[in-house]
Amino acid sequence: MPESQEQSREIQKEILFEEIDSLISNPPRIEEVIEHEKRLQAEQEEFLAGKKTEHQERLTAKTPGSIRIPDFDLLYLALVEKIGMPEDVVADLIEHEKAHYDQAKKHGLRPKIYLNRYQFVDEEGNNVSVTTPYIAVSIPEGMEKEEARKLVEESVDAPQEKSTSDTELLKRLQN
Ligand SMILES: [Zn+2]
Repeated sequence: MPESQEQSREIQKEILFEEIDSLISNPPRIEEVIEHEKRLQAEQEEFLAGKKTEHQERLTAKTPGSIRIPDFDLLYLALVEKIGMPEDVVADLIEHEKAHYDQAKKHGLRPKIYLNRYQFVDEEGNNVSVTTPYIAVSIPEGMEKEEARKLVEESVDAPQEKSTSDTELLKRLQN
């Protein structure tokens, strides 16, 4: 990499890591995240009809505790260096998200990488923080709803092992 590219890469990483630091010190509560996701879900039909893509993108970017991650290398570094997850766990997570990403990209759904962190109080009354990466997609304007639904479904279905939220989303899409 030329020196100037290497420098801007370092700056990009620094800015991202600062954002993550402030998220780590002040994660939203799970209820806030769920509330926001309900809003996103409520508009899913219109979203699939390509009517509210930009609105949906803005809303996704505003999900409490969510940070947009430029690429998978930075996602890897963020999860290992900032969140402190074991490397093998992160490698598996990334393989999973990449399967969603590649499938969505193949279909022209403009996938974006996000990291989400929230906290909740467990049964013993301790504050627990959870960090999860995820992929958000866009529906090109004018795409047929059934086509969009099929392509989103294929992207959600892409990893060999589905997460709980993948399974839930698949169920919603198939209804
Ligand atoms: Zn998944």
